[in-house]
Amino acid sequence: MSAYESDFETIIGLEVHVQLNTKTKIFCSCATSFGDEPNKNVCPTCLGLPGALPVLNKEAVKKAISFGTAVNATINQNSIFARKNYFYPDLPKAYQISQYEIPIVGRGNLEIEIDGRKKTIGITRAHLEEDAGKNIHEDTVSKVDLNRACTPLLEIVSEPDMRDSTEAIAYLKKLHSIVRFLKISDANMQEGSFRCDANVSIRPKGDSRFYTRVEIKNLNSFKFIQKAIEYEVSRQIEAWQDGKYTSQVVQETRLFDITQAITRSMRSKEEAADYRYFPEPDLLPVFIDEKLMNEATNIPEMPDEKLMRYTQTLGLKENDAKVLVSEVELAEFFECMLESGINPKQAQIWLTNELLGRLKGENTLKTCGIDSQNLSILVARVTSGVISGKSAKEILDVLVEQKGGDVDRLIETMGLLQVNDDNALLSAIDSVISANSDKVAEYKAGKDKLFGFFVGQVMKHSKGANPTRVNELLKEKLQ
Ligand SMILES: [Zn+2]
Repeated sequence: MSAYESDFETIIGLEVHVQLNTKTKIFCSCATSFGDEPNKNVCPTCLGLPGALPVLNKEAVKKAISFGTAVNATINQNSIFARKNYFYPDLPKAYQISQYEIPIVGRGNLEIEIDGRKKTIGITRAHLEEDAGKNIHEDTVSKVDLNRACTPLLEIVSEPDMRDSTEAIAYLKKLHSIVRFLKISDANMQEGSFRCDANVSIRPKGDSRFYTRVEIKNLNSFKFIQKAIEYEVSRQIEAWQDGKYTSQVVQETRLFDITQAITRSMRSKEEAADYRYFPEPDLLPVFIDEKLMNEATNIPEMPDEKLMRYTQTLGLKENDAKVLVSEVELAEFFECMLESGINPKQAQIWLTNELLGRLKGENTLKTCGIDSQNLSILVARVTSGVISGKSAKEILDVLVEQKGGDVDRLIETMGLLQVNDDNALLSAIDSVISANSDKVAEYKAGKDKLFGFFVGQVMKHSKGANPTRVNELLKEKLQ
């Protein structure tokens, strides 16, 4: 039987590990800072020394609840920690403290949008756990760095609701954005604080069964996730077409080989039973009291709500508003400009079209040295007619070039102040009119096109004149 790719449906479920940005680790008071000298931030608890006891970090609990709130999830007022037993050199206790039976966050969902089509993706659960350390392999030796051991993770498990890599990426981007707007993690993918395991399977279209799923582990860039899923789907379909599905597609964990863009078998996939989960005897069940629940569920405005407010209340176009809510820093920059009294449309244009349009490569909104106050002053000077829009763009070029600066001083030193003094403009107009009496006569006889000539002449005579005002005054004079 031959089958085409289009005869199959892809089933994708994702597990995302988010490193929560608490100051200290989840079960001890060691620092969570990234990039420190190896094994600097360790203590008996995170080293797994006998007799050391874990103490739960309340901040981690709070951040998990906030996440649950943002994805409309059930928050379990009572949850328990469990031991997940396995041996690995970067896990000194030989078990990981995680949550199994009752996670802190239960069922929730989030909405993704692809080319205008909306789809709800179910979230099965989100639970708290500790991270492992890091093995470092060098030539003939392997070393272990336990700085990361015991840092707090929130593992977010989705339902198998995604049907292709595009939906998977849309879901991940949405999740990434929610985490960033909540400020519960820096979600830096390169540093591993937002990483994803993808469960991928296929089935013939119309079939409602689930077939063998393969887990691709530790994906840490949207691009790689997309490529890994796409490779894995075609590998499984090919095996089906070749009649080798049962022998080649087995339940296993695979790794994505970045250089060859293929997935490779790493190990057979463990089932829950392999981990011999049991309730963690060193920690009490977690109970969330009313005070903590109130604090943690009081979350900031999420990107979807902002999008709605920007379009419906502020009157921005949807595509423009989408750019503003694509990054938390951008939305905050925009809102600071509004607080300075800048009109929303002007703030949006100057921020996304003009400023972002000038930022390239390493030069980002965060590093460009221009803050919302700088840009607000610049826009305010245009709106009040102190400088022209054209001059403001020149000033912005300089601000970007020299990484910030004083807008008003630049207006002065660059000689861009517009002449708004009507008397000065009127005398310039008078001299232009008296020097061009023939053209004035032609204009008055109906040659309207000459108006532009007069504007040009006046602008030449009064450098820095506000063209709008010149137009107005000229019209009056020539009538
Ligand atoms: Zn520690």
